[in-house]
Formats: sequence, structure tokens, C-alpha cells
Amino acid sequence: MIHEILPVGMLQCNCSVFGDETTREAMVVDPGDEIESILEIVARHGLKVKAIVITHAHIDHIGGARKMKDATGAPVYMNLNDTGLAKMLDTQAAMLGMRPVEQVDIDVPAKDGDKPVVGATEVHVIHTPGHTQGSICLWAPAAHTLMAGDTLFRDSIGRTDLPGGNGKQILQSIHDKLLPLPGETLVIPGHGSATTIEREKRHNPFLAGMGGAE
Ligand SMILES: [Zn+2]
Repeated sequence: MIHEILPVGMLQCNCSVFGDETTREAMVVDPGDEIESILEIVARHGLKVKAIVITHAHIDHIGGARKMKDATGAPVYMNLNDTGLAKMLDTQAAMLGMRPVEQVDIDVPAKDGDKPVVGATEVHVIHTPGHTQGSICLWAPAAHTLMAGDTLFRDSIGRTDLPGGNGKQILQSIHDKLLPLPGETLVIPGHGSATTIEREKRHNPFLAGMGGAE
């Protein structure tokens, strides 16, 4: 697979361009901002964007989705539990001192267990509420890769003090749905450095006692 990761915008959200070398189909995950740069990556690899997937409706992840949809015609996927947040982009922009962005219509509800394909590769939607109620992670088993949104970070987890956040729930989501994935799975968090499931099981202080350090 082609997998390019570009930190975009003021909060440096990790946008993924995930493409199939053979069919040239691609999925763009979290086009928060800097759409021109994302489109350059898409063009450089000769890709056609088939899906735009939003891991959750915080503005740094969804902010450029409308522009990306207008530029590519691709449908936007998001878990509908974040619909309320997606309608509050003006409030989110004001809270962060950012310029307002245009809202985007969601075309496809991303539900737990859905498996959209990129070329020949299945991408499993894993619903991981906690950071927001509609947070999802995207797992591509054939590529040994998890795009984790703001649920799991290297040495940290997503904050839960924003509207819709729940501290108990995010730990439950990580314990039940992410830690059982193969240890070597590469984790691309919503911000910051990549890691692996195994590394976070062993070293993530927020996950102490979840069976990693024995
Ligand atoms: Zn977030």
C-alpha cells in the first residue's frame, strides 16, 4: 500500500493518504486543513480518492473535508454519533481562535464492523467512543496499520474533557477493541509520532494494568 502521512493545520492533525498501488484507489483520512498539499500527494502517486473518512468531528480532523469533497467528488464517511459536533464547527473554530470552515454533509455512516475497501485492501471501522461519542479507528489488517484518530497516542490517550468525552469509556474502548489487535500493528495517531500496539501495551502510562507489562 501507499501510505503517506501529512500533519496538517494549526494543531498538526495527521492526515493519511492510503492508496492501492495497483488500482490507484485511495482513502483520505482526516483532511483537517492544507487540502492543496494533500491533493499534491494524491496527484504525485496518480491516485483517485474514493473515500474521505473522518475519525471524529473535531475541527482539526474534519475542517478541510468539504474542500476535499468538492475537489475529488468522493463521499465522506463518519460515525453518526458525532453528527452534533460536526454541526458545531463555528463554535469549535471560535474556541480555538481559528477561521470558520464550511460544514460538510456526511454521505456514508461509518459503523462498527463496516469494511470499506481501498483497491483490494479492507479497512475495518472500529467504533471507539470516549474522546468523542463518534470516534472511530481504521484498521487495515493486510497493511498491519491502525489509524487511531485521537483515541490512542504514543505514551498517551485522547483527552476526554471536551463535550462528548468520557474517561472511563475511552479506556474501555482501548482495552476491548485496540489492545487485542496484533502487537506489531503500526499505530498512526491523530497527532504526533507513530507507535505500535505492543509498545503502548508495555509503556503507555494510561494503560498500566491492562496486561502489557507482565
Ligand atoms: Zn480530537
